[in-house]
Amino acid sequence: MRRYLGLFILMLAMFAITGCGNTLSRKEYTIATGSKSGVYYPIGEVLDSILKSQCPDVTIKVIETAGSVENIQLLKEGKADLALVQNDIAYYACNGEAMFEGNKITNVSGIATLFPEIVQFIVRKDSNINSFAELTGKKIAIGGKNSGTRYNVEQIFGLAGMQNQVNCVYIEPKEAMEEMKAGNIDGFVYTSGLPNPSVIELAKSVEINLVPIDLELTQKIVNKYSFYYPSTIEPKQYPGQDNEINALEINAVLVSGSTVDENDQYLLTKYLFGKPNELGQAHPRLSKVTKTRLRQQMPINLGTGAHRAHSEQD
Ligand code: GLU
Repeated sequence: MRRYLGLFILMLAMFAITGCGNTLSRKEYTIATGSKSGVYYPIGEVLDSILKSQCPDVTIKVIETAGSVENIQLLKEGKADLALVQNDIAYYACNGEAMFEGNKITNVSGIATLFPEIVQFIVRKDSNINSFAELTGKKIAIGGKNSGTRYNVEQIFGLAGMQNQVNCVYIEPKEAMEEMKAGNIDGFVYTSGLPNPSVIELAKSVEINLVPIDLELTQKIVNKYSFYYPSTIEPKQYPGQDNEINALEINAVLVSGSTVDENDQYLLTKYLFGKPNELGQAHPRLSKVTKTRLRQQMPINLGTGAHRAHSEQD
């Protein structure tokens, strides 16, 4: 009896120290996100606060990055534990295809699918770009070299036969928005959750237009690349945007590297996604997360720990 009492006291003490019923092995995990001007970064902060609400002394430290491709590299090198990435980029990485050809990543596994991202073509109104074809000859920022956005744009321009006809510059979204305000570029592209608060801010100081992707091109892209879905940007997402805009959508997923062991992955998944309703209240982009959706559109192996946590939710 005494022995059990001792064990009970030890368990209580551990709970008091960690705040968690079940103990994560570390006090800090890092998550690779994107630019502070995007949606990944604030979602990283929200994941930290959700975990903290259950495990007050465990932190998810948010790292600002160029986006999906850099995030996978950081996981590969063990410089980040978790990452938000586009599902297309996760697939290419784990299968050694496209930008990861000859550099197949073997230590990344899926945790959950979070929210749709729209490939948004945002231009200055005074650039007079009213159709996709009118991007020809214009100067457009397409994201940093290691962003996911850059690859979406290259695939889309490639299938539109416009790869050599647009003056593409590789700059980060924050700089792109400054350059756009200054009139040094005609527009920029951002594959991000909708609406993007930084674009709302931008539209307050410079009039913007969203460029629709025509249906014929959409069909070509969807046929060739299975990660894209035809989508729309509903009216009034951005100041001055009165019409619905045809667009393409992909999904953002949360993944982890091998620095997160199976039990930690199980616990993180459980603490972060055990109550999808609370996630929805924490950030509008997470409002459509459901138990089923968490496992959909995950193009890479779901980690064993994440799988166990999701199965317990069924
Ligand atoms: N999807 C973007 C990328 O990986 C980042 C989007 C964001 O930060 O909201 O390049």
